[in-house]
Amino acid sequence: MTNLLSKSQFLKGRHCLKRIWLYNYRRDLMQEQSAFQESIMRQGTEVGKLAQCLFPGGVLIDEDYQNISGAVDHTNAVMTKNPAAIFEGAFVYDDILIRVDILKRNDDDSFDLIEVKSSTSLKKEHISDCAIQAYVLQQCGIKLQRVCVMYLNNQYRRIGELDLEKLFIIEAIDDRIHDELANVPMYLDTIRAALSQNNEPSWDIGSICKNPYQCEFKNYCWRDVSKKSIHFISRITDKQRRDLIDNGISLTKDVPENFKLTAPQSIQVSCEKNQDTHIDTVAIKNHLSQLQYPLYFLDFETCGYAIPQYDETKPYQHLPFQYSLHVRRTPDAELEHYEFLFDQKENPSRSLAEELISHIGSVGSVVVYYASFEGSRIKEMAETFNDLSEQLLSIHTRLWDLQTPFAKKWYYHPDFNGSASIKDVLPVLVPELSYKNLAIQKGDEAQFQYQQLINLSENSADRIGIKKALLEYCKLDTMAMVYILNQLQLIN
Ligand code: SF4
Repeated sequence: MTNLLSKSQFLKGRHCLKRIWLYNYRRDLMQEQSAFQESIMRQGTEVGKLAQCLFPGGVLIDEDYQNISGAVDHTNAVMTKNPAAIFEGAFVYDDILIRVDILKRNDDDSFDLIEVKSSTSLKKEHISDCAIQAYVLQQCGIKLQRVCVMYLNNQYRRIGELDLEKLFIIEAIDDRIHDELANVPMYLDTIRAALSQNNEPSWDIGSICKNPYQCEFKNYCWRDVSKKSIHFISRITDKQRRDLIDNGISLTKDVPENFKLTAPQSIQVSCEKNQDTHIDTVAIKNHLSQLQYPLYFLDFETCGYAIPQYDETKPYQHLPFQYSLHVRRTPDAELEHYEFLFDQKENPSRSLAEELISHIGSVGSVVVYYASFEGSRIKEMAETFNDLSEQLLSIHTRLWDLQTPFAKKWYYHPDFNGSASIKDVLPVLVPELSYKNLAIQKGDEAQFQYQQLINLSENSADRIGIKKALLEYCKLDTMAMVYILNQLQLIN
């Protein structure tokens, strides 16, 4: 079987016609998946396998994606035997190939189509995903009773063995796919027309390049986009983007004075036009006045698992496995540094919480960058460990967010390019500090390396290198916070 359009190709085409064209003809332009992304994919596969356990008597169509005709023949043969369910069943209609995660047989010989997702909620893109499958199955003469999405229950807290009934939620979406299902033939025509072109279709870049996840061709499509372009205006909407492009505006500095912007966007545009820095001294000083010494500069690194690995944890719960803590006890005191890195294949939270409490005293501000992240982790630990909750909640009430002046644009420099991330603020305010020479430079790399670390044997030589890299990365995060706060404190 050749020239089939797979479900995933259909979905790429539904997302963006340029994407499906590039995928078919210029796969050389695709970004390679990072090791972290591959590990996420593996977790998705594990979720799919676990979901099958809830359908005893189901038969797996185990031919891989290269052996399409074998998979279709196997599916047809199994269908004649009336199994309770078929996993990964292969169906083809009008040169469209689908593999159905779970096709569950009902007593009246109708079927439920169940699409398994490793997300924790129903998402818009799941509708198209199910619609193309329902379309092919119906055209193949299969009577569908229900179309469902099966996803992870983020309220499920593991205690002991996994309780699969509670881990998964099955949500029927029949009433939500009607329009999408009715339009499948039209979408197929559009996609096939795009694929019949010799040249790549023109398509506007925008939020679709990052949502619901980053497109694999983003580096290619955004290759000539300057950081000074309107695409980097903070929280720009697609309508704003469209209006500006339609008026021939491509650079932020050229946005017309009367163009409707939010207050933070206006600050960014004004700074870009005038190439100056905006500083709201009153707001910053007011924020700084809430600081109480000693100052504890805290940063966590966390890991998360689609399928909870440890007791008392939920799907994708961020488990802190590491922290760096710089301490300034008085304005003139020497900086102290403490750090913690859990390196065993167990839940790191309890050990980390105990160590954190031993390092952070009962008074003083806890300086973090983006408080809702560290705050949520501290609250989760307080909920889990009753005996530590008082001290943890005391830390929580003393959080002070260093990101606020940048997020609210009380301090904005044109070279932030619309971002309030520490990775964008640091090079402008403290150019002498840089992540560039570190072995680990991003949070997801840290998470991936941590997974490597805990899976290595105790005497593996690689453990030392990974631990060193993790400690250096996290330490730079809190050191960066110390320096950035110094800069804010210099404002008169
Ligand atoms: S980067 Fe954006 S425009 Fe380019 S193919 Fe992907 S979604 Fe389409």
